[in-house]
Amino acid sequence: MAIIEVMLRSLRSRSIVTASRRITTLRFASTLVLTEHDGGSVKSSSVSAVVAARSLSEDNSIAMLLAGSGPSLQEAAAHAASCHPSVSQVLVADSDKFKYPLAEPWAKLVELVQQKDEYSHIIAASSSFGKNILPRAASLLDVSPITDVVEISGSHQFVRPIYAGNALCTVRYTGDLPCMLTIRSTSFLVSTEARSVAAPISQVDLSTFNEDIAGRSRYVSHSTQDTERPDLGNARIVVTGGRGLKSAENFRMIEKLAEKLGAAVGATRAAVDAGFVPNELQIGQTGKIVAPELYMAFGVSGAIQHLAGMRDSRVIVAVNKDSDAPIFQVADYGLVGDLFEIVPELIKKLPEAK
Ligand SMILES: Cc1cc2nc3c(=O)[nH]c(=O)nc-3n(C[C@H](O)[C@H](O)[C@H](O)COP(=O)(O)OP(=O)(O)OC[C@H]3O[C@@H](n4cnc5c(N)ncnc54)[C@H](O)[C@@H]3O)c2cc1C
Repeated sequence: MAIIEVMLRSLRSRSIVTASRRITTLRFASTLVLTEHDGGSVKSSSVSAVVAARSLSEDNSIAMLLAGSGPSLQEAAAHAASCHPSVSQVLVADSDKFKYPLAEPWAKLVELVQQKDEYSHIIAASSSFGKNILPRAASLLDVSPITDVVEISGSHQFVRPIYAGNALCTVRYTGDLPCMLTIRSTSFLVSTEARSVAAPISQVDLSTFNEDIAGRSRYVSHSTQDTERPDLGNARIVVTGGRGLKSAENFRMIEKLAEKLGAAVGATRAAVDAGFVPNELQIGQTGKIVAPELYMAFGVSGAIQHLAGMRDSRVIVAVNKDSDAPIFQVADYGLVGDLFEIVPELIKKLPEAK
């Protein structure tokens, strides 16, 4: 009996906490954006998260949270302060503990900031960074995150793809605050407008930050291809090669074509698994999501898992020797033919990139 009474009391006190947390949101819409930065600049996917935050509510107060150490963090903070007119504040956590973007210390940081400032929403881009940190932080804050949001139709109503992008699902969030989201940056386009006066930058007080954050993961290394090509996630044109290329050597054709077009290079999982290119170029359900103005697919069959990563592209061009290939069902322009003839001809006819 006593146990039941204790349980009831704890349930009652929990619902009181929940109610007061809800009232806080109704009065103040405030959003924390988990911000990814590199080389002293905020990544454009994080600016997309600000754009998404802006569509939650007209009077949303938006804070960008950056963590790291050294001069590049301060440069990135200055960039964040002027990257979008809707940014109200920039919070900076400067410590060696955030030297690498590991989920454990970052999630603890989000918990610390949330406990102090009680944001109604926490948003990150659906990049490896956001997908690594946000669910862990949500677990520490005991809420269920909503992932891969492509449309915001109210402060608690969101649209997200399901079944590998074949259906869209409208989700209404009725849980405790904060409401935590990852957003697809391709759905929240960044305009060129910037803040005329930089937003204030303040340091996060880390004096109560729990030192015991060793966790079970450790940073080993970061490797990326040194290339002058545009970033796959933001490129206006993407040229993709599939298994039809047959070898890593043949895949150079795709790179040459991309160079001429000033495009980013993408690949199917079959091409990555065959070792033609590194897996950071994979597009699809388990790779990157892209939505460029022009998407060109060579030797790509158009498997559902690949389409999940590129079907929102504005214009899709496909070249395949099989007229029944499913890629033609989503292509705006399709050419049935041998890529080994068509790609060299295209390269020859296109002028050199400036
Ligand atoms: C859980 C899961 C997740 C997955 N995630 C992804 C993902 O994120 N991304 C992804 O891409 N795949 C993913 N896949 C794999 C996916 O199912 C397909 O196997 C893959 O996309 C096929 O790649 P492809 O089109 O290059 O190869 P294939 O399906 O083998 O197609 C090759 C195409 O090239 C054409 N071709 C061959 N020679 C020529 C030529 N000379 N000229 C013109 N055309 C030619 C062929 O007609 C064929 O259509 C996933 C699978 C699973 C089960």
